[in-house]
Amino acid sequence: MIRVLANITTVLLPLTFVIAPLWAQQAATESVAPAAVAKSIPPFLSESEFNRLSSLNPADPNGYLELGEELLDSPDSPERVALTRELLVRALEYGRIGSEHRRVAASAAIALASMSKQEGDRLWLRSVAAILEPSSADLAPSRRAREQESQVAAARASLFLTQLRAGAGIEARDSLAAKGVRQILEAHERELSASGTISVQDLEIESRKWPCTDCAGTGIIAPPKGQRGPAKICPVCDGQPGLKLRVPDFGAQLRLQRRLTSSFSESWGSVIATQGASPARDPDPANVAPAFAIDVRLTVWRDGNWTTPTPEAPSKP
Ligand SMILES: [Zn+2]
Repeated sequence: MIRVLANITTVLLPLTFVIAPLWAQQAATESVAPAAVAKSIPPFLSESEFNRLSSLNPADPNGYLELGEELLDSPDSPERVALTRELLVRALEYGRIGSEHRRVAASAAIALASMSKQEGDRLWLRSVAAILEPSSADLAPSRRAREQESQVAAARASLFLTQLRAGAGIEARDSLAAKGVRQILEAHERELSASGTISVQDLEIESRKWPCTDCAGTGIIAPPKGQRGPAKICPVCDGQPGLKLRVPDFGAQLRLQRRLTSSFSESWGSVIATQGASPARDPDPANVAPAFAIDVRLTVWRDGNWTTPTPEAPSKP
């Protein structure tokens, strides 16, 4: 998503640079022309949204956040979605600098995370939020409770895979039955194997085969009571109880487990590495605007474009 946005913005930014100076010239002559301003309301904005957008200034990052969050509620055109991002990135950027606005910046990071379709981007932006405001998850207690619940379920889903590979069928079935676990595994079904060929149902069937009926999960058959002799490798499970996987599938499951159990405290580098993306992104709030390819030096919206504010005419003493 970020990459797509970057492409769009790369196209738009040069235009902005070209238009801004033109606008600056116009503004000098047309600063008292409300009729002309009214005409320039873009079709994807209401008049009140347009007026608020036009009055934003970087000293009040909360204005960008509030408008961005409102647009986020009705993202019914690509232009509104793009504008929402531009507002939230600016709220984050202008808010991250002053300590009194860091909560605004953290909220903007969380809102950006909610817009992101890539799990990696969501994690990254939530890490940014946690750095800006360690208690930012408190902003929405119900959301936080849901997240904690889903983190518990994700950890249990990871445990399920480990139990299954260890041949601990009873424990694995308990894990699969725990709240939220099946939904998480189904959501990640494509990642249960290297090429998406293993389903949750396959794993459930597999779980019923364990523990091994012959060796009770030990992998060896001891000689009958009272008899001497060497223990034998269990002929049913070949001495290796549990789900057998090809190496690529095993690798896929380990990567999935790493993602399922990762949290804010895990370094971003290791998370991104498991997803095969590069380079690793540091959850430094200063990196957000560049990642979205948004030029935050253009602080104000005038006549359909982000631009720099015109210096006010020096007041006469
Ligand atoms: Zn066995």
